[in-house]
Amino acid sequence: MALYESQNLRLYNSLSKVKEEFKPINPGHIGMYVCGPTVYSNVHLGNCRTFMSFDMIYRYLKFLGYKVRYVRNITDAGHLENDAESGEDKISKKARLEQLEPMEVVQQYTVDFHKILDQFNMIPPSIEPTATGHIVEQIEIIKEIIEKGYAYEINGSVYFDVAKFNQEHTYGKLSGRKLEDMIANTRELAGQSEKRNPQDFALWKKAEPEHIMRWPSPWSEGFPGWHLECTAMSTKYLGETFDIHGGGMDLKFPHHECEIAQAEACNDSSPVNYWLHANMLTLNGKKMAKSTGNNILPGEIFTGDNDKLSKAFSPMVIRFFMMQAHYASILDISDEAVLASEKGYNKLMEAVSNIDKLSAEAQSSWEVNSWIQKCFDAMNDDFNTPILIANLFEAVKQINLMKDGKEQLNSEDLENFKNVFKGFIFEVLGLLNQSEESSSSKLPDLVELLIELRNKARVNKDFATSDQIRDQLAELGIVLKDGKEGTSYTIQ
Ligand code: AMP
Ligand code: ZN
Repeated sequence: MALYESQNLRLYNSLSKVKEEFKPINPGHIGMYVCGPTVYSNVHLGNCRTFMSFDMIYRYLKFLGYKVRYVRNITDAGHLENDAESGEDKISKKARLEQLEPMEVVQQYTVDFHKILDQFNMIPPSIEPTATGHIVEQIEIIKEIIEKGYAYEINGSVYFDVAKFNQEHTYGKLSGRKLEDMIANTRELAGQSEKRNPQDFALWKKAEPEHIMRWPSPWSEGFPGWHLECTAMSTKYLGETFDIHGGGMDLKFPHHECEIAQAEACNDSSPVNYWLHANMLTLNGKKMAKSTGNNILPGEIFTGDNDKLSKAFSPMVIRFFMMQAHYASILDISDEAVLASEKGYNKLMEAVSNIDKLSAEAQSSWEVNSWIQKCFDAMNDDFNTPILIANLFEAVKQINLMKDGKEQLNSEDLENFKNVFKGFIFEVLGLLNQSEESSSSKLPDLVELLIELRNKARVNKDFATSDQIRDQLAELGIVLKDGKEGTSYTIQ
């Protein structure tokens, strides 16, 4: 029996605005789409938080035994400056400023994105499609929307007719906006642009002569609108209706609202059963964003080369810091908070090394099965990682008591406990054991190894090597002393 059959997962669905029981379309299988990065700059820590939230979600779904097809795209065309309807493409602009080919920009920042996510131990998605690799699919969807009467062509561009759509569907149901209010609040007057209404959004834009990223289409040489790529790629790989769609909270409107409208215009049914939105990482109480400069890059944290935190922190300390907050809550990064997370992370890793030293007793005195269910209950309640972590620390207390002989588990319970404790830490929270403690605990063995190699070199009269080992260790502050009993060392 797969684990998910005995667990009752509930998710907060941003569309219905309530927690719902999770039921996939095909039992045992899940299709999940998450909006990926626009690769025109280095990912900042805020972007990483959203991707890490979905990494944790992906991990827990797999932990429950589901087979998950996880699609996360790369936006490499169509996303215009300020998320606007007109203006320069973010990638072309960067290419122009840096005198590069747009695809050189895409390559550079895609590589950076992968490298950073890997440092945070995030699992790559099952499919990572690009917008430029799916122009044909996007053109096909535009044709379909025009055919259904929800889009119009003007001067080589094609726009989605929001007012027409709203006659039979509800535009704004995800973000809770009403079309009438949007119309009342808009400063742009109808007729100021070529669109019929200011709320209409581009499906295809005719390229101005200076716009270099362009493709042929039935309407003009141009490029697709930003919202269309996610509809094209999610439909292609997950079907017209799939289980989970995720992204940062800031994508709810207009991006996800437009995705719903496009898909409903084509298929007359809602494309996604559960919409999940991850909340923002803030710095000094304000949203971390590339455009405002209020951000910190992961690399600046790992090296300590920044003026926002007092010292360097490892990727796993940052990951633990993120996991201590619920994915749907705002999280503010501060020096005190990360320092506290570092202590917590080290404590947890110490418990991991202690748990292996525990031995089984004849009888259990601690109720391990109810503790295990509490861990699952936390995660089943809309992926509540802070509660899970509180439960893990309750287990740390038990580990310490067991170490001192004050609690005990029989061999079956102990085996179970070890697997679940480590499973939640490493597989679900996605942590790696990188604590300073664990790497420094290997130091004595390493020095002994070098002493042995030096002795071998001396026996072979290879004094160049033996001297090199002694001198370079001395440079690192490890001083070797040769005595009658052999070689000893001191660390300065
Ligand atoms: P972008 O590359 O701008 O399309 O953003 C990539 C992802 O990062 C999107 O899902 C955004 O919602 C998310 N994001 C942007 N800023 C933040 C932030 N400060 N905190 C969390 N997620 C963010
Ligand atoms: Zn998207």
